[in-house]
Amino acid sequence: MIKVGIPRALLYYQYYPMWKTFFEELGAEVVVSPPTTQAILSSGSSRVVAETCLPVKAFCGHVLALAGECDYLFIPAIRSVKSRIYNCSKFLGLPDMTKAVTPESPPILDIDIDINQGKRELYQAIYKLGRRFTWNPLKVRQAAIAAWQAHLKYMQLMSDQDLNPLQAIERISNTTEVEPETPPDNPTPPQATIALIGHPYLLYDEHINHRLIHRLEKAHYKVLTPEMLTAEELESATARLVGGAYWTYEEEVVGAGGHYLESGADGVIGIMAFGCGPDSLMMDIVHRRAARLRTTPFMSLTLEEHTAEAGVATRLEAFLDMIQRRKRRQAEVCV
Ligand code: SF4
Repeated sequence: MIKVGIPRALLYYQYYPMWKTFFEELGAEVVVSPPTTQAILSSGSSRVVAETCLPVKAFCGHVLALAGECDYLFIPAIRSVKSRIYNCSKFLGLPDMTKAVTPESPPILDIDIDINQGKRELYQAIYKLGRRFTWNPLKVRQAAIAAWQAHLKYMQLMSDQDLNPLQAIERISNTTEVEPETPPDNPTPPQATIALIGHPYLLYDEHINHRLIHRLEKAHYKVLTPEMLTAEELESATARLVGGAYWTYEEEVVGAGGHYLESGADGVIGIMAFGCGPDSLMMDIVHRRAARLRTTPFMSLTLEEHTAEAGVATRLEAFLDMIQRRKRRQAEVCV
């Protein structure tokens, strides 16, 4: 059976159920790299220039972790998946960059996706990819339909049941990606609700963000993420702030930030990658919005390779203290 490797980085958090379904429908076995570790990050970082953003460094490490473990690596070059909304240039060059900096990686399946070129181009690209596994176009079509349905189910699951991608992937594939937790008999009510905004590959890579979600949940905070909002909520909040999205992740950053600043959260934390051009623009918009509204505290955290765990913990503690003080003051005013 042909083994297709998928690096657990970048677009993995958004599309894994869809990609897995497509390849399995075509009779392939899907292999995923393990969760990020310091060794994975360091190995990836050693292959690229220092200025490269943290998620791309981690991606290279995941590619190296899959070398020798699969027959092909799936690395699409995704320019756009929504009309006139674009990915950052790093995504476009991902297959070429991988070939250049990790020559030991298995052959790459590198499909080009740009919805602005029209549906015909998209179908041809999918068919070309599927032909690596079968000559039967009907089988490729069926695999593509099943993959799309798996993607819709994944998105629905997250917004309907307030799950983040790790929890939804676990639910769908019944893996042990998230440690199963037995609910306590008398659950402690959350101290407050904190919304995290940012790219999924920053929010859900626990090594990169120093277990931010885990820290918040352990301290009894309810965590909200962009995936818990519907596409309509994200779109309308983005439209209110900037008229419409230009970058692919603008709705997850600007839209989710705008929405949670207005309702549903006691505090909003924006997670950014050092050296990311789109992030610096998008997070600034949310920051300005928070300053104008003055209703919900906002903090941005910039992550890079050398970000110390203690630094993240200290900033988080200070932010949560401030939220607690604010809640106490509000309670006193009400009395
Ligand atoms: S959007 Fe930013 S963090 Fe993501 S790949 Fe591009 S530069 Fe890196």
